Amino acid sequence: MTTGINTLGGFKAFTDNLEEQDHLMPVLFVGHGSPMNGIEDTEFSRRWSAMAKEIPVPKAVLVVSAHWFTRGTHITAMDFPPTIHDFSGFPKELFDVQYPAPGNPILAKETANLIHTTNVDISHDWGLDHGTWTVVRHMYPEANIPVLQLSIDYTKDAKFHYELAKEIYQLRKKGVLIIGSGNIVHNLRMVAWDKLYVPDYGYDWAKEINNTFKELIVEGTHDKLIDYKSLGKEALLAIPTPEHYLPLIYTLGLQGKNETVSFFNDKAVGGSLTMTSVKIG
Ligand code: ZN
Repeated sequence: MTTGINTLGGFKAFTDNLEEQDHLMPVLFVGHGSPMNGIEDTEFSRRWSAMAKEIPVPKAVLVVSAHWFTRGTHITAMDFPPTIHDFSGFPKELFDVQYPAPGNPILAKETANLIHTTNVDISHDWGLDHGTWTVVRHMYPEANIPVLQLSIDYTKDAKFHYELAKEIYQLRKKGVLIIGSGNIVHNLRMVAWDKLYVPDYGYDWAKEINNTFKELIVEGTHDKLIDYKSLGKEALLAIPTPEHYLPLIYTLGLQGKNETVSFFNDKAVGGSLTMTSVKIG
């Protein structure tokens, strides 16, 4: 049996096979940090593995990765998305990693159909970049759960991404785990490379704005997080370019009324990065 889109008469929606559940799948924002977390046993990667055991086993995983920053919105729709090694200057061991999780073209199409704020391109040109596989391979090492990626349109503002995320909320009722993968504080130019292995090493401004972000997340003050440029110079230092921050905005757009939030991996790295991650639901 293929997983391609059948003709209308024979169309069987992926989510039709999934019973509506009495619980919503949680939503995660994951600070992915260095690609080396993909192969190292770190406090961060250990937490990713543990998280997968704490939440229901998903029917599929949909990742909004900082590393697929495109004109327009695209979704991966291949049967087997390739593992993309989108970095340089790392050991061969990292380039050798393959994460052979299947995709799900039908779910890709259904997800695209849920989105009305823009036309979503059904893509066969990407795969799983390191924003996805470095995290997900720790969560689901057997690579037996379909994994899809949704790109971030770099021509749009944060409000657009927040509204788009709301349109895919119902996937949570069908057992799809949606993950935003980025870093809330992410300034590579200012990284103290000599202090990379000093635990929880963060500049004052980085810790300060990270705390502000957390407070706003707990309060549910999403408008201020969407309008992050108005949060002062610390926010501009934390977000010199938006691609690592916008996955958080997707996560917040998926939050239901009165849903609780909690944090994990709430640590700074190298002064100007934070791994602070959020679980919703
Ligand atoms: Zn990254």
